[in-house]
Amino acid sequence: MGLPLLVIPPGGINVVASLKLSPQLFAPYETAWAWSAKLAAANALSAFEVAALMGIPAAQPRSLLPLRIPRAALTLGRSMALPSWRVKQAFLGGDLECLHPLMSEFLRRCPACVRLGYHLILHQMRVLDTCPLHHVPLREHCARCAAHLAYDLGSSKVHGPITCPGCTAPLLPVTRSGYPTTGMITAREFGLIARWLAFLKRRAAQPTWRDGGILVNTGQHALTAYAQEAVRASVPAGVGRRPVIGQRASWTSNAEYRELKLRYWQHANAHWLQCDKPSRHWYRHLLQGGATEDTPSVHVLAFVYWRMTWQGCSNPYLLRRGHGVPLYGVAEWQAAQPAPDDDDLAAELSVFSAALEASWDEWLDCIDLLGVTTLERRIWRLRAVPSAYVPLPQT
Ligand SMILES: [Zn+2]
Ligand SMILES: [Zn+2]
Repeated sequence: MGLPLLVIPPGGINVVASLKLSPQLFAPYETAWAWSAKLAAANALSAFEVAALMGIPAAQPRSLLPLRIPRAALTLGRSMALPSWRVKQAFLGGDLECLHPLMSEFLRRCPACVRLGYHLILHQMRVLDTCPLHHVPLREHCARCAAHLAYDLGSSKVHGPITCPGCTAPLLPVTRSGYPTTGMITAREFGLIARWLAFLKRRAAQPTWRDGGILVNTGQHALTAYAQEAVRASVPAGVGRRPVIGQRASWTSNAEYRELKLRYWQHANAHWLQCDKPSRHWYRHLLQGGATEDTPSVHVLAFVYWRMTWQGCSNPYLLRRGHGVPLYGVAEWQAAQPAPDDDDLAAELSVFSAALEASWDEWLDCIDLLGVTTLERRIWRLRAVPSAYVPLPQT
């Protein structure tokens, strides 16, 4: 009677091939932690084992944010029919690499996403205070034992990364037998995640976003918090800066102010002309003090906020007085500029135009991403948004 033979190939048995995780359990835009945690749970592996399989040095700081995507993880992904871009994305490689400076060292979870079984790259972004899908505060602690959770796999030789190292409570939902489970993410939600990532990618290189000067709250009163943070971030106190002109100041005949003001109105008119008919109607109605029902377009809502930003609007009727009021945004913008060595007005105007356009893009993006459809009375105290002030080029 012949006995079955176990033939060990050169290089040993490849255990990778036998690992299973059904594709719907690991959604696009999820983190390397989520992938590892679910993979370990589905295959009864410990944190130590899954880290070794992924090629991640256990317990090394920022081990889930390697400079190069671990080769073992790519091989593992291939064996599970995961496209390599999905693996790279989970490790924040490829076009997401610019987001590294925004990644938190703590495991940050949205309670609503957790209930659905997901941990997204967006949750790890320090600049986000709340989950962009559910607008609830992100948590860095275990709900049961309050342990502060690190964004790594840990080094437990008993438990998988899906369990809290403090109390072993599951950090993502699992069945009674410990198998991971997930709910549905809709196509609309996937679209929203992609747009938020694009929004953050465009800003990740800006110093105030990197150094923690910005905190984006996606909640109901998000725009208020956003603007307050921005003012702190973009108007630093320093020597060699021009004095801020007070609220009561009126326009002088200074040629420089006149030019800046003219440039502002050129931009304002151009944006106004891009609004469609119902939007213009809504806007005129607003200026006459009418009720502010749902706005017909993102564009006109962005236009109102943008104007209020630059005109330092603090009450709903200020806009009605239009051209006669000092543009506080212009004054503040000037104050934030380094004292000029020469009087190169053309250079100043071009940088001013760039600042106007940058803040316009910010408003369009924010209103679109936050899904704002009405004009909130309480946020009429806006002053500035990030990138409203672009430093003058050093000559
Ligand atoms: Zn969420
Ligand atoms: Zn715990």
